Amino acid sequence: MKHVIIHYHELALKGRNRDFFERRLIQNIRSSLRDLRITRVESLRSRIRIVLPTDANHLQVADRLRRVFGIANFSLAEAVELNLANPNLDGLAGRIGKALLHHNDPFESFRVTARRADKRLVLTSMDVERAVGAHVHQVTGKKVRLKNPDLTVYIHLLTKEAYFSLDKIEGPGGMPVGVSGTVACLISGGIDSPVAAYRMMKRGCNAVFVHFSGRPLVSRASEEKVRELVQILTAYQYRSKLYVVPFGTIQREIVAQAPAPYRVVLYRRLMVRIAGELAQREKCWGLVTGDSLGQVASQTPENLTVIEEAAEVPILRPLIGMDKTEITRQAEHIGTFTTSIEPDEDCCSLFTPPHPSTRTRIDDIRRIERSFDTGGLVKQGVDAAEPSEFTFPLRQAPTPSS
Ligand code: ATP
Ligand code: MG
Repeated sequence: MKHVIIHYHELALKGRNRDFFERRLIQNIRSSLRDLRITRVESLRSRIRIVLPTDANHLQVADRLRRVFGIANFSLAEAVELNLANPNLDGLAGRIGKALLHHNDPFESFRVTARRADKRLVLTSMDVERAVGAHVHQVTGKKVRLKNPDLTVYIHLLTKEAYFSLDKIEGPGGMPVGVSGTVACLISGGIDSPVAAYRMMKRGCNAVFVHFSGRPLVSRASEEKVRELVQILTAYQYRSKLYVVPFGTIQREIVAQAPAPYRVVLYRRLMVRIAGELAQREKCWGLVTGDSLGQVASQTPENLTVIEEAAEVPILRPLIGMDKTEITRQAEHIGTFTTSIEPDEDCCSLFTPPHPSTRTRIDDIRRIERSFDTGGLVKQGVDAAEPSEFTFPLRQAPTPSS
């Protein structure tokens, strides 16, 4: 029977939190494999083991695990029984030798790397490495090379069994989604905000998404894009909620009353307040934006400060110190880039002044805001917010049975 052995970053899982982290990671792995009829995901002495059904599609499993935050690396492994008191390595070495004879990728050199989870085992890791290495050399004729071998045989020794694998696949690292609470991500349909959400998810946050659309004054194009982006990001957290807030009418009201250069900051402050209310409803501890310092007018030090002042929860800006090329590279890696660059019209393209103020002063903004019914506008936005749910893997329609 085939297994997957998963290693997590032990440093990230310190002390009393460890059980909590591990349980969450196991739960997330189960969610990511939900539709593949894989149910046995178990803790195994600071590793996690998945027992695969015989017909499992290994590539598909690997593809899912590559997106589960908290996984450092994983490998497809086979189990061999061990006898603790009288460990006979012939069985293990024989199975490994056989597996290598059928191995698809050609190799000229190899090494064996063994780890013991049970220190009561009379053999040391090095004993096992030597014995297995000698056998592999004998049956394959390939050379042992400790530095940069073409192939590494990994052996994980437990009390009654050993697991061996011939590959090691990188996981995404980070922390299991859910261990760092929930945050509300302001998502625009541009390149940056999906990357910002991804960075927070990678640190263990669950993301709830909030999008401000220009509706009813523009089409739903930006909403469709945002839905696509949220669906892509849901592959990292399995379930997402998106609130779409029609913002066109609110913007029109600001335009009617405020001097043009202040509009951008005023829109942003209202977004922060509306998203803040939704965040409270969803028990989020922070708001997340894709701001990067100095990129556009709303992201100068002065304007960021004035926008921040409207928030009642922390505003997290994971991209603040990154430049566009770095952010773009990440968007390509995550798979959001091609969707993000499709043309659209969100509320930002509505009523944007040609010369926005880049050094807005809080006193000026407070004075202007006194001429609006800010509370009323916030309420209008919150009341009109439309929630929708996303899942990954996608729920498949049941196939009709004949
Ligand atoms: P992005 O690429 O994410 O659109 P940007 O470089 O275009 O960012 P801005 O348009 O100033 O910069 O937006 C800064 C941040 O404000 C965005 O990253 C996003 O978090 C938030 N934001 C902007 N517009 C919207 C919107 N229509 N709905 C939700 N959030 C938004
Ligand atoms: Mg934008």
